[in-house]
Amino acid sequence: MLGLMQNWPLTVDRIIDHAARWHGAREVVTRSVEGPIVRSTYGEIRNRAKRISSVLRDWGVQPGDRVATLAWNTDKHMETWYGIMGIGAVCHTLNPRLFPEQIIYIINHAEDRIVFTDLTFTPLLEAILPHCPTVERVVIMTDERSMPAARLPRVECYETILAQASEGAAWGGFDENTACGLCYTSGTTGNPKGVLYSHRSNYLHTLMTMQATVMAASPKETILPIVPMFHANAWGLAFSGPASGAKLVMPGAKMDGESIYELIEGEGVTFSSAVPTVFQGLLAYLHESGKRLSTMHSVLIGGSAVPESLIRGFYEFGIEVVQGWGMTETSPVGALARLTPELEKLPYDEGMKWRIKQGLPLMGVEMKLKDDAGRELPHDGKTFGRLMVRGATVAGAYFKEEGGDVLDAEGFFDTGDVATFDEHGFMQITDRAKDVIKSGGEWISSIEIENIAVGHPKVELAAVIGAAHPKWDERPVLIVKLKPGEGEDKQEHLEFLQGKIAKWWMPDDVVFVDDIPLGATGKIDKKLLRERMKAYVVP
Ligand code: ADP
Repeated sequence: MLGLMQNWPLTVDRIIDHAARWHGAREVVTRSVEGPIVRSTYGEIRNRAKRISSVLRDWGVQPGDRVATLAWNTDKHMETWYGIMGIGAVCHTLNPRLFPEQIIYIINHAEDRIVFTDLTFTPLLEAILPHCPTVERVVIMTDERSMPAARLPRVECYETILAQASEGAAWGGFDENTACGLCYTSGTTGNPKGVLYSHRSNYLHTLMTMQATVMAASPKETILPIVPMFHANAWGLAFSGPASGAKLVMPGAKMDGESIYELIEGEGVTFSSAVPTVFQGLLAYLHESGKRLSTMHSVLIGGSAVPESLIRGFYEFGIEVVQGWGMTETSPVGALARLTPELEKLPYDEGMKWRIKQGLPLMGVEMKLKDDAGRELPHDGKTFGRLMVRGATVAGAYFKEEGGDVLDAEGFFDTGDVATFDEHGFMQITDRAKDVIKSGGEWISSIEIENIAVGHPKVELAAVIGAAHPKWDERPVLIVKLKPGEGEDKQEHLEFLQGKIAKWWMPDDVVFVDDIPLGATGKIDKKLLRERMKAYVVP
């Protein structure tokens, strides 16, 4: 027997409609790519998104067609995003930090018809578009005064097309399983792969992440999503912001410590989210300038493991760090380390053991640990295994690889991460499967060593990789980028690790470098680092 409730498709146009209707005057503040801070509201964003929809329809965009954005977090990007999704087309967020060849591959693979871009990226587009035959038009998201003399085919000015369009376009009316967003993983191995979100998956992810146990989004909050919309949907904040009626502050192109500080203090930001490296920049700025943050109560940090020093660094400023785990394939938030009441009672230093973990699965995300033979492993806090996930917000296949086999027999997706679960249910990522160091038949967690090593006061960035070893297969080597002006002394970094990790995990060497490469999503690029260290031999 079926239930007798209404069939009300979970489509994301309803999110911005809700925001416009009930939180219509709530502000969306943007540091515009042109420079000045500009103010909009959910009401205006929704109306302008409707105009984008009309324009797209006039240009012949059909449901299912891919329309790309190459843009920072701005009000205009949100308008475009909802304008595309509302008519059943697919908003394909392109990551401008990828290598041009990768962007070309992705545009061609997705067969994008139109690209909406910020001024910043017109030179990049001039270089890549000759190689992208499916792109018919480019819309530069600015006004006539700021339009560049771009050498691009069929260039349109965003404000001009908007001024001429109607707000009458109808939204929705399609199945909730219709595709609405496309985001490629940065392809740390092989070609980038497209994750194709549905309206339903994004709608559910919005409900899941708004909760008090996750982002606690509400009209009381002023949220600054520093994590870009092209990095796994800004972890859902371009949906959960409007869904909850929170004020949004969009950083545009500037993500350095000083610019972020100005936005936080100027707009009264209470909550923000970014990868660790961005927040390390903010903390460094606070220390240099002697300034404090007067309104912010917490930050969500994820994308790569959060070092203890960063958690403590924010704590000193009265700000709580909440660590999140996820991936493009999980919409992206999958787990979050908010301490349970039992753990919260512990003294701060004891509770740290859980703050540095990736936490509990969100309601709606099932998780299990598997060994290489597919056997399920115990949750004892010690046993490492492959992290497998299942749920309505988890990818079942990649775009144009529908026949591919990314799920196990029970429908669990292999995250490629190695993890443990403890007696409190807290998951901890010990490594990516391809980064784990195999020494004498045992596994060493590179992440755990890195996170301690980066806490040394002289260290700016630290990475641990496995170097080939004749006896042990691999041994860990600590690679350090020092803060400016600091002197090289291998011994002090090894001593700093002593007593904090198992003896046999102790790196065999410390290598000082001028630069540790970061990938397209702001994380340490281990693949490139390993390549650079190819000729290195353990002493
Ligand atoms: P990519 O970095 O490959 O472009 P994602 O941004 O989707 O793609 O990255 C997902 C991966 O990032 C996860 O599989 C995991 O390895 C890593 N990751 C994300 N959050 C955390 C975290 N809090 N701690 C450790 N690793 C994390």
